[in-house]
Amino acid sequence: MTKKRPVILLNPGPVTISDRVRESLQREDMCHREPDFAALMLDVKKRLAAIYEGGSEHFETLVMTGSGTCAVEAMISSLLPADGKLLVISNGVYGERIASMVKTHGKQMVLVKSPWPEPMNLAEAERLLKEDPSITHVSAIHNETTTGRLNDLDALGALCVTYNKPMLLDAVSSFGGERIELEKWNVAALASTANKCIHGIPGLNFVLVRKDLLEQGKSAAATLYLDLFAYYQKQKEGFSPFTQATHVAVALQEALKEFEEAGGWKARNERYRELSVRIRAELDAMGIRRFLKEDEYSSMLSSFHLPEGYSYEELHDELRKENFIIYAGQGGLFHSIFRIANMGDLLDADIDRLLAVFRRLMDSRK
Ligand SMILES: *Cc1c(COP(=O)(O)O)cnc(C)c1O
Repeated sequence: MTKKRPVILLNPGPVTISDRVRESLQREDMCHREPDFAALMLDVKKRLAAIYEGGSEHFETLVMTGSGTCAVEAMISSLLPADGKLLVISNGVYGERIASMVKTHGKQMVLVKSPWPEPMNLAEAERLLKEDPSITHVSAIHNETTTGRLNDLDALGALCVTYNKPMLLDAVSSFGGERIELEKWNVAALASTANKCIHGIPGLNFVLVRKDLLEQGKSAAATLYLDLFAYYQKQKEGFSPFTQATHVAVALQEALKEFEEAGGWKARNERYRELSVRIRAELDAMGIRRFLKEDEYSSMLSSFHLPEGYSYEELHDELRKENFIIYAGQGGLFHSIFRIANMGDLLDADIDRLLAVFRRLMDSRK
């Protein structure tokens, strides 16, 4: 439980951390080449793999220093072969970011792009899977943070199974907070980060990769730093090729213990759902309209049309005065929407206060 309420982060990561995680940082320093750090890393890897069914059995966790994008880029770079072709399914900033990565690494892809407010274009994806036998892998974004849409991975996963294509999944903003079906979706690897639904501090990210791929496959990475196969070799023993964010690893271990004690991803999903449904319902009652339909949202992120009379900057600054950080729309959506994430160590009282501030702001412009 968090005692005093400082700034409350309602941006989609980094998140408000608990006192328990914050206090875990008050310990002696560690060297990443010493056995105590290696033991910590092995423990963190094991806990991360155990969150979803089938994870411990079939997947290896590789932990790297960097933000979520680092995990996604390491996954794409290491696992998409030079002679492979990725079907990139995009309906937001993060899908388009994967397409840029494939281009940057000089690999082949075909992009199925929907407008950001729309669902993934699965009809087009299926047409391509049927007609283009050179496609070897499929990539998708689970929770598209651009809008807060939880993409329909049951449907896409079924296509991956039917056409026998391994899925490379960006689960950066969903891992630990949403249902993930490793087997049913044909997941070969997924990428995420310490500082979103897991409630750690920023600085470490991780990729879960199927063990058979790491054991039998060979690295396709055209980069030294982001080569997951090099991490795999070293991290079998808990060590890493390069300096790790040691303090961040301590906080991550504590956050994982807290996560497990609280009931794992299902409990976190229920708690997030309760908060986000309440935020959307109450803002709606004040006349602040949702950007997507209610049943399209993930549990931890909501997007809204800017209320009449407010620019994003004005809304942000008013909330900032009350110690709340909200988030702008990205790209073309900057002038039309704002976002509220509800990850992190949030209390009901924080949401009560947030809604009271919104009520006051809306009343003052009537
Ligand atoms: C946050 C996020 C990322 C990574 O962003 P970083 O700023 O690099 O941590 C990637 N994909 C999605 C869907 C995200 O929400």
